[in-house]
Amino acid sequence: MQVVSSLNQLDSILNGYKGQKRSIGFVPTMGALHKGHISLVSCSNCDNDVTVVSIFVNPTQFNDKKDLQNYPRTLEADLKLLDEHEVDIVFTPTESEMYPSPDSRVFEFGKLDKTMEGAHRPGHFNGVAQIVSKLLEAVKPDSAYFGEKDFQQLAIIKQLVRQQKLPVRIIPCPIIREPDGLAMSSRNVLLLPNQRKEATLISKTLFESLNLAKKLSTTELKTWVVDNINKSAELKVEYFEIVDDTELLPISSWNEPKEKVGCIAVKVGNIRLIDNIRYNL
Ligand code: AMP
Repeated sequence: MQVVSSLNQLDSILNGYKGQKRSIGFVPTMGALHKGHISLVSCSNCDNDVTVVSIFVNPTQFNDKKDLQNYPRTLEADLKLLDEHEVDIVFTPTESEMYPSPDSRVFEFGKLDKTMEGAHRPGHFNGVAQIVSKLLEAVKPDSAYFGEKDFQQLAIIKQLVRQQKLPVRIIPCPIIREPDGLAMSSRNVLLLPNQRKEATLISKTLFESLNLAKKLSTTELKTWVVDNINKSAELKVEYFEIVDDTELLPISSWNEPKEKVGCIAVKVGNIRLIDNIRYNL
């Protein structure tokens, strides 16, 4: 496994592989790796000759400075894990490598970034688009792997790739959960023991809502989900929306012939967790 920090080094290694017509899979991450990230790596390893993972805590996507400061950083353990999972190249750039000058690009995603995460985290998706476009430009992979855990992010990246006509396949990967159902997240390690225990109510409620969806309207179900989670003194729902899986427009009836996804964000103390679930009625 080669670990490189400069775009030039990355380019010269990748040129070697591309000269040999090897296919390249790419997994962008912010580090503090867990089994969710590793599932993306495994998908990439299956599909490609070479897997590149980037580790970069991208400042432009953090609308909350404290969240950026507190974001877990575990580079040594991350590298060990990636080596064990047969990653070929790890790209660990510095901030000045990725942003030699401020990135003033403003992306236009129509309605996609106006709801849910976009509405609650102003500028977040613009920062995501900035870094993902730079990384895709640097790696030029055949395929790039993203988790469905960040459902809205995935929709936005697909749109970015369409808009910019980038020659890359975007491969969605399913949510990986802890044994008790909590969606794996780098931020989970920041939860205090009691918060961690209570946080299981998020996925439990989403799973229960699958059954209730047969009896309740979308509006009733939304109210039930929010109330059920807010029963815990540790949890505060920011939003729960049921949307279609491509345009992310709100669904008002189960009869709408669209793939439906319930997306949620919950504050657990100062930590913000997201999750989602598909309703296949
Ligand atoms: P992050 O390091 O949080 O930016 O995540 C890097 C990639 O891993 C993103 O595509 C995430 O959607 C994905 N990811 C994070 N957590 C999970 C999970 N629990 N299951 C599947 N993919 C995940």
